[in-house]
This record gives sequence, C-alpha cells and structure tokens, in this order.
Amino acid sequence: AAKNSGRNRYAWFDLSMERELQARNELESGLRAAIPRLEIVPYFEQQIDLTTGRLGGFEVLARWEHPTRGLIVPDKFIPIAEETGMIADLSLSIMRQAFVAAKDWDPGLSLSVNISPWQLKDAWLAQKIIKVLTETGFPASRLEIEITESSLFDNLALAQSIVGSLKNQGIRLALDDFGTGYSSLAHLRALPFDRIKIDKSFVMSINDNSESAAIVNAITRLGDSLNLPITAEGIEDASIEERLRALGCSKGQGYLYGRPLSVANVRRLLAEKGCCAMPCRSSPSPRR
Ligand code: C2E
Ligand code: MG
Ligand code: MG
Ligand code: MG
Repeated sequence: AAKNSGRNRYAWFDLSMERELQARNELESGLRAAIPRLEIVPYFEQQIDLTTGRLGGFEVLARWEHPTRGLIVPDKFIPIAEETGMIADLSLSIMRQAFVAAKDWDPGLSLSVNISPWQLKDAWLAQKIIKVLTETGFPASRLEIEITESSLFDNLALAQSIVGSLKNQGIRLALDDFGTGYSSLAHLRALPFDRIKIDKSFVMSINDNSESAAIVNAITRLGDSLNLPITAEGIEDASIEERLRALGCSKGQGYLYGRPLSVANVRRLLAEKGCCAMPCRSSPSPRR
C-alpha cells in the first residue's frame, strides 16, 4: 500500500508539473500571437510634480488585453517575453502605441518607458527606439527610459554605448526600483542616470516601518548630494505624499492619484483637467 501511494504521489507530481508546463507553453504561444495583434497595450500611470501638485506625465506600463482572460498584468508575461527574446518586439510595440497616443497630449507631459536589462544586449536598441520616435513624431525630449538595477550590466561597455546614443538624442535615463537590487551604489556610477526612482516597497511602508523610513531618507539625501532628482513610486495616501514632499522628492506616483489608465481613460482625464492646465487632482489637499 505504501508503495502504491508513493507511486500515486509521483504520478500526481508529474501531472501537476505537466499542467504547469502546458500552461506556460500556452502563455508563450499566446503571447507570440498577441504582440502583432496589438493585444499588448500601454497603460498610463500618472506622475505628479510634488512641488506643484500638477500632472507631469505618465509611466507606460504593459497590459495584455486577453480576448478571453481579461487584463493580464506584466508580472505574468514580461518574464516569459524576456526568456524567449520576445521582449524586444513587445517593447517597441508598446512604445509605438504609447508615442502615437501621447504626441497629441499637452507637450509638457513626459513619458517614462521601462526597458528590460535584457534589451541592453542589443547593439541596435538605440537606433530602433530612435526610429520609432521619428516614425511617430514623438519628441525625444519628452521621453525618459527606466532601467531596473537587477543584473543590470552583463556587458557594461555595450550598455554604455547604447545609453550614450539615447542621451545624445535628448532622452533621459532613470534608475528604477532603487534600493532593491544589489550593489545599487555601483550601478549609479555605471550609467549616466538623470533620476532615481525609489522602489514602492520602501515608500508604501514609510509610515509603519522605521527601516523603510531610514532608507527613503538616505536615498533622498544621496539624490541631493549627487544632484539627481528623485521619483517616489507607490504613494498610496496623502500622509505618505506629504512626507516625500518634505524630503524633497520632485515627483511621485501611486494609487493615491489613481490606477494606471487606458489610452481612452487618459484622454478623458486630460479633457476633465483642461489638458493639464490645472492641478491633476480634483480636490487637492491644502499644502503647507
Ligand atoms: P515598475 O516599473 O516598478 O512599475 C511600478 C509598478 O507598481 C506598476 O505595476 C504599478 O502599477 C505599481 N504601482 C504603482 N503605484 C502603486 C501603488 O501605490 N501601490 C501599489 N501596490 N502598486 C503600485 P505593474 O504595472 O504591475 O508593473 C510591474 C512591473 O512590470 C513594472 O515595475 C515594470 O518593471 C514591469 N513592466 C511593466 N511594463 C513593462 C514594459 O513595457 N516593459 C518592461 N520591460 N517592463 C515592464
Ligand atoms: Mg518603472
Ligand atoms: Mg519602479
Ligand atoms: Mg517597482
């Protein structure tokens, strides 16, 4: 009996592993078809200028509008896109769609797009991005590229040359999720960053966790001494916003200002706000 149940157990493991593998394969082939069908679309998360309370631009975030499964978040498909090399096409498709939409918005509004460290191995990356800018008519000066620090520089010389070409066009560079990778400080010197983004894990817990508060404090002072402006992500309530403003963070984003929006909903938002002439929040809290 023991032998039997053991065998059943193995059979059960095999079956669940097989199902997992099958689900992954389905996701992978689904993704391959989804990119040319433009099912992977940009959503836009508001970035607020914390000194004025006004909308400064948006972070572009990938979403999969799956025909039967609804909206799928990037954690589910970006890793697969990276492992299979599809991230290159996916990324350029997201950029193209975002630039086409945003070029008609207020010219004061910037876009931040995420680049996977994996893409920095493509010697033609800068040329490809510049081509999409040219074809869509979106100005390079309104574009910021976010790079996460995890396993950032397999080929540092190549990454530096790609980034150099992008910066020559007037594109800005932000170090994303700062504080979560290893040897963060070394990364800061490896590429000519224009901005640091503090990871949401520290920002969200700043009121409940003294270590998070100390880390956010240290990062803002580091930004001061290096002359790098700071964006805080994950601002979920007004008290967190107030603390980050007091610490001198120049930009903030998070659910306090709303969830990431589809193109149609951004248009609605901009129409409501008189296209960015007014503070972005309908009822701004009294300041200072
Ligand atoms: P990220 O660049 O750090 O993006 C911020 C993530 O935090 C977004 O999740 C956003 O929706 C979420 N977030 C923003 N504010 C809050 C908040 O107040 N509270 C909480 N709990 N969460 C908040 P999302 O959209 O699921 O994106 C996750 C990650 O996926 C991004 O992290 C980014 O690294 C990656 N990603 C998204 N789109 C792309 C893309 O087009 N290309 C690449 N390479 N990566 C992407
Ligand atoms: Mg980002
Ligand atoms: Mg981030
Ligand atoms: Mg993050």
